[in-house]
Amino acid sequence: MDEQEIKLVLDDEDFPELRSEVRKLCEKYPSKYWLDLEDQTPDTSYPTEFVQELTDAGYLAALIPPEYGGSGLSLRAGSVILETVCEMGCQGSACHAQMYTMGTVLRHGSDDQKQSYLPKIATGELRLQAFGVTEPTTGSDTTQLRTRAERDGNGYIINGQKVWTSRAGHSDLMLLLARTTPKEQCEKRTDGVSVFLIDMRDAKNNGMEIKPIDAMINHNTTEVFFDNVNIPGDALIGEEGKGFRYILDGMNAERCLVSAESIGNARFLLNKAVKYANERVVFNRPIGKNQGIQFPISDAYIKLQTADLMVRKATAMFEAGLRCGAEANCAKYLSSEALWACAETCFTTHGGFAFAKEYDVERKWRDARLSRNAPISPNMIMNFIGQHVLGLPRSY
Ligand SMILES: Cc1cc2nc3c(=O)[nH]c(=O)nc-3n(C[C@H](O)[C@H](O)[C@H](O)COP(=O)(O)OP(=O)(O)OC[C@H]3O[C@@H](n4cnc5c(N)ncnc54)[C@H](O)[C@@H]3O)c2cc1C
Repeated sequence: MDEQEIKLVLDDEDFPELRSEVRKLCEKYPSKYWLDLEDQTPDTSYPTEFVQELTDAGYLAALIPPEYGGSGLSLRAGSVILETVCEMGCQGSACHAQMYTMGTVLRHGSDDQKQSYLPKIATGELRLQAFGVTEPTTGSDTTQLRTRAERDGNGYIINGQKVWTSRAGHSDLMLLLARTTPKEQCEKRTDGVSVFLIDMRDAKNNGMEIKPIDAMINHNTTEVFFDNVNIPGDALIGEEGKGFRYILDGMNAERCLVSAESIGNARFLLNKAVKYANERVVFNRPIGKNQGIQFPISDAYIKLQTADLMVRKATAMFEAGLRCGAEANCAKYLSSEALWACAETCFTTHGGFAFAKEYDVERKWRDARLSRNAPISPNMIMNFIGQHVLGLPRSY
């Protein structure tokens, strides 16, 4: 990294123009927009207009190289976009997959696959919002997944079930992880799993069923059932049996991006806490004058600043092509914990009004809780750090 790049890593407001443009767009989607969506049905609760506007402005194609119609920006720039979306009170999770799920196609797809999909993903003509990994019976133990893709002539037949597949009802394509070789025939647990890019528009008429999950947050998340779904052979990305490795390849970038979202959400909640602590007068003094209110806010701020530094470090290392598994996992852990500290202090600071939807605290508080469970839990991060960074015995 040169001096300028190091300065950017440490500069609170790097990419100021990008931040300012994204803020302008987000101002059109205030809290009422998001709260109203929560009252809708699964079909209408998706922030279609918001995602369309981000797509039209090119933000969701930030990481797609220019030769495929994207803007070829850095991972940090992509992170800044998602951070700003969240800092403005909007929902990054509604659109983040369109930004990064294509990474597997970009890194491991054939030239044909890249030429036929990436430019359309860049314009939004094709929505790649669905990423089918988690299954109901195997959860965090991804290598045990049971969804099967069996060879059938030139194509495959898929049978199985995914759960928590977010945005499946609002996506044209799904990146799917399925077992192609029975695990008993594989040397390693991670072998024999393949990744497919499925056209959901075809699959819906051909054995795939999507059922919305009624959840405490509006993430348009679903269960997806595969009953003898036929897919063509060219849906396979890269080599058969290497899918688990391909997904891991993209993990560190995904960790950096979702950590940046947590930083944005944390700023949103912290700003609200500070404002209310200054404005609300009880016992003839602003409540922020009480150390019982002030110190948790200061503590949350310190956690946020620390997490932000780690997110920037992990992202800079990823961009420099360095190994950054430890840093990306630390960033994810710290940013989730900082977000939760900001959420809790914001909730406490607002007293009873935290429960009133119009104050728009409880919506982000619910969202903040998610980051401590998904896409990876603190426990699984500590497992990773213990085993792979510190050299402790595998605990599970
Ligand atoms: C709103 C939402 C959206 C999601 N979107 C997607 C999506 O789009 N695509 C997708 O594929 N998945 C998605 N997920 C799934 C998410 O990634 C999983 O919930 C997560 O991977 C954990 O799986 P699980 O819920 O089955 O928990 P489990 O694996 O059953 O774990 C339950 C608890 O036990 C802990 N635990 C398990 N094993 C160990 C161990 N060895 N050591 C210590 N602790 C352990 C876990 O940390 C967790 O706290 C989403 C989840 C939610 C809630």
